[in-house]
Amino acid sequence: MFSRALKPVGTLAVQNGAKSFSTSPQRNFKVVVAGAAGGIGQPLALLIKQNPLVTQLALYDLAPVTPGVAVDLSHMNTVAKVTGHKGPEELPAAIKGADLVVIPAGVPRKPGMTRDDLFNTNASIVRDLAQVVAEQSPKAIMAIITNPVNSMVPIASEVLKKAGCYDPNRVLGVTTLDVVRAAAFIGEINGVDPQSVQIPVIGGHSGVTIIPVLSQSKPAVKLTDQGKIEALTKRIQEAGTEVVKAKAGGGSATLSMAYAGARLANAVLRGLNGESNVVECAYIKSDLTEASYFANPLVFGKGGVAKNLGYGALNAYEQQLLKEAIPELKKNIVTGEKFVNK
Ligand code: NAD
Repeated sequence: MFSRALKPVGTLAVQNGAKSFSTSPQRNFKVVVAGAAGGIGQPLALLIKQNPLVTQLALYDLAPVTPGVAVDLSHMNTVAKVTGHKGPEELPAAIKGADLVVIPAGVPRKPGMTRDDLFNTNASIVRDLAQVVAEQSPKAIMAIITNPVNSMVPIASEVLKKAGCYDPNRVLGVTTLDVVRAAAFIGEINGVDPQSVQIPVIGGHSGVTIIPVLSQSKPAVKLTDQGKIEALTKRIQEAGTEVVKAKAGGGSATLSMAYAGARLANAVLRGLNGESNVVECAYIKSDLTEASYFANPLVFGKGGVAKNLGYGALNAYEQQLLKEAIPELKKNIVTGEKFVNK
């Protein structure tokens, strides 16, 4: 999956009959997946194990199966060395030396639940993980998948602030699945390869806060009827619920989320590795709107987010969507901040 985006990063050299992998001049990165035994965590780890920029992959979870998942993945003949870490006492070793910590730890939705219903359980999980990141790898980039993303990013940020190591360019909420879904649906409507579709999705990651900017789609969406544009917008906003309903109590999106998470991780690593034109949407600290965190296209670089590209021109319908999203986002952000500062 990375072949289009990445140049080969190393060559296999045979020395005294033994193969050693030379990765210079590229950097070698350590990635941690926290929540690695879960529905998202396992396929996400599988995909990250295939990324040639990763030389260390640490899997952390509470579940007893975690070391076994690591052994299983370690038999893949890709360069990343895999370690398994189970339970809080093994967390510091997992996090130490990390460049990127991807977090899908926490409970998912069941039918009838909103993402906000997960707050009480997931808030303390993300808070505690952020605390260990602050202690062990304060410069690591955190990519938070755990819902509700709109509140979890403020939680992690407040923890890092208290620890004196907060860098807003290094704390991301993963909204890539919204972009992936929008591109999949537009590809279907237009009858083109969905990989060729570029579509920004801005705002946040729940219900009305998900704003696909269909007017900026490349290629243009082949829909002229405003009713159909609005139906597509709703479908993208509610696509997570579509999966939750279809899984009928078996959880929420896992495989498509793992794909999206691996795509975001790859963008972050390419940026860290010195590429200068890597663009993805993510939810970060922001002063673009009245909401103090906001998702939109970003350029990734050596320090995480290198440049905020803003969200460009919105048509009247999209401006209305933005107006509806802001109060909800502000509420979600305050909930997260209050949780840490109570
Ligand atoms: P899951 O229940 O299958 O897996 C979660 C894993 O987290 C489990 O293995 C569990 O043991 C682990 N875990 C729980 N507490 C932990 C802790 N304190 N430390 C480490 N690991 C811990 O759930 P899932 O389907 O993988 O979903 C995970 C999260 O991702 C949910 O909150 C879900 O809502 C969210 N999600 C986000 C998006 C997105 O677009 N950002 C999409 C889908 C799901």
